[in-house]
Amino acid sequence: IQAAVMDGVNVEQNSIESVEESAAKSAFEKLQSDRKTLPIYPYREELLQAVHDHQVLVIVGETGSGKTTQIPQYLHEAGYSQRGKIGCTQPRRVAAMSVAARVSQEMGVKLGHEVGYSIRFEDCTSEKTIVKYMTDGMLLREFLGEPDLASYSVVMVDEAHERTLSTDILFGLVKDIARFRPDLKLLISSATLDAEKFSDYFDSAPIFKIPGRRFPVDIHYTKAPEADYLDAAVVTALQIHVTQPPGDGDILVFLTGQEEIEMAEEILKHRTRGLGTKIAELIICPIYANLPTELQAKIFEPTPEGARKVVLATNIAETSLTIDGIKYVIDPGFCKMKSYNPRTGMESLLVTPISKASANQRAGRSGRTGPGKCFRLYTAYNYYNDLDDNTIPEIQRTNLANVVLSLKSLGINDLLNFDFMDPPPSEALLKALELLYALSAVNKHGELTKAGRRMAEFPLDPMLSKMIVASDKYQCSDEIISIAAMLSIGNSIFYRPKDKQVHADNARLNFHMGNVGDHIALLKVYSSWKETNFSTQWCYENYIQVRSMKRARDIRDQLEGLLERVEIELTPNPNDMDSIKKAITSGFFPHSARLQKNGSYRTVKHPQTVQIHPSSGLAQVRPRWVIYHELVLTTKEYMRQVTELKPEWLVEIAPHYYQLKDVEDG
Ligand code: ADP
Ligand code: MG
Repeated sequence: IQAAVMDGVNVEQNSIESVEESAAKSAFEKLQSDRKTLPIYPYREELLQAVHDHQVLVIVGETGSGKTTQIPQYLHEAGYSQRGKIGCTQPRRVAAMSVAARVSQEMGVKLGHEVGYSIRFEDCTSEKTIVKYMTDGMLLREFLGEPDLASYSVVMVDEAHERTLSTDILFGLVKDIARFRPDLKLLISSATLDAEKFSDYFDSAPIFKIPGRRFPVDIHYTKAPEADYLDAAVVTALQIHVTQPPGDGDILVFLTGQEEIEMAEEILKHRTRGLGTKIAELIICPIYANLPTELQAKIFEPTPEGARKVVLATNIAETSLTIDGIKYVIDPGFCKMKSYNPRTGMESLLVTPISKASANQRAGRSGRTGPGKCFRLYTAYNYYNDLDDNTIPEIQRTNLANVVLSLKSLGINDLLNFDFMDPPPSEALLKALELLYALSAVNKHGELTKAGRRMAEFPLDPMLSKMIVASDKYQCSDEIISIAAMLSIGNSIFYRPKDKQVHADNARLNFHMGNVGDHIALLKVYSSWKETNFSTQWCYENYIQVRSMKRARDIRDQLEGLLERVEIELTPNPNDMDSIKKAITSGFFPHSARLQKNGSYRTVKHPQTVQIHPSSGLAQVRPRWVIYHELVLTTKEYMRQVTELKPEWLVEIAPHYYQLKDVEDG
């Protein structure tokens, strides 16, 4: 109305603004009224009272009840944020980002201001931030700079049931600081019912239960095991879609990772295209850890009338993210899980059957807003007889070198007596110490060395940090941090469109010219991109993912900042390949392998037969001696990211680890 009485040109503009404003206002009001419909809302006062009365509280509530998005807001509204930040940890990056985005909307503030998130290599917070979502790994790193978490008034360790390595370590650390910080409130929240265990661990902390609203879920099993669960999942999704009326509910399919999700997406697109307009629209929404942020929001958009959404998700949709409107769940019964062999020190990511607890969480996703259906693509016999009851905590099946290094730099030396909820195998602890000793991060008494202290500054695996620290000696830190950044983004740098495979392969070969090895090839990709002033066009022409490159650049910038912190000068040394390779070897010497007569390789320490991954530039070349970045187990045990090396370097660089006889040919 005010706009209308004003004169002239501005009238129209102002009235448009006020339309937008009122739309925004009503969206905001809608969000506020939605908040009040969540299962947690009726318990708001009771919960605040319990937090007030107890220092440590275990909170249990079904996925979707509002724990993650509401509790930090309630605490903020109750004034806790005046005394310090409210921190909430998430095991997954995507969850931290997506929940922070949601909460900033609900609070009507800009993301990164009052509400922010912090994940590795990406800090979206500011001075103003009072509600901070972060990965559990990031809070662990914050201990390094602020050992008593003085800037926090509340720490909520969320999704505690996931029992990630970082969460388990956090348990021990927060339990400890709670003793000398009586003003700090500690919330441990979980979606499953084994809350007793958390309560016991935290000296019988009270358990606050948020009663769930759960509708019955019909569970269907297959009569016989499925030979190809991906195909079975796609077929099941399509069957649901064509036989059930659109509008009655969306479909959620659990797959194990990005590749599977992309494959399922392609098959679904292909088959629905074949059906043309005979069927209702099927909107395909993938969600996995590396999905670009812009696309993540898509899964939360309401499904348009007459259409159906099919969400293709990793484990992330099991408890970390709640997608409204799901009526059908398709559960092939697998997830990707890390496993670790403490004897050899080898770690691999394997597709593994899920636990009964996971299967039940997955099924539960279909019964949130009404009765649901869950299609298990395995037999009832399988479920009852083959699946474990619970997933083994990560701490018992992973390489601990990174965590041991962090704990050491926090001054926690006696790891065998650390207050673990479930202790790791002592073999794994010893193996971690052994590796850190080999990397000269600890001395023979297990004490952190200067190199170890520098390494701990980098949010990277110790071998990568060592490579960076060693680049000082070889005067090539500039190149090495580019390589470290490129290695950190994984294998999503090159792409290979179906219709242009030959072009893509040729573009790729360019970087491998002279059989320089994969590390140097990655460096060449980065440097060439930099020379074009970070051109997007150049990426297209070379079949390189711009998004991955931008991420590499961000990571590199941060590593550059960290170099300064540990007082290593940024030294370019672009033409001295041997120095660069020696710096790499300084971090990765435990990963050496030698060519065998039959064309396969054998790792030098803890002999094991391995192959060069077909995607490597050296796959055909097969040098006699190589070092590799990592092993991946698919059909065979493959070395990924491989570089040739001179065997004498091993003795020169790691005389405490290799003897001449280890590296003699013949
Ligand atoms: P819990 O932590 O108990 O599993 P959440 O607080 O994550 O529950 O979710 C509560 C509700 O908030 C969900 O049912 C969903 O409707 C909504 N929600 C959560 N995250 C988002 C998001 N990123 N976008 C849209 N809605 C969301
Ligand atoms: Mg949650």
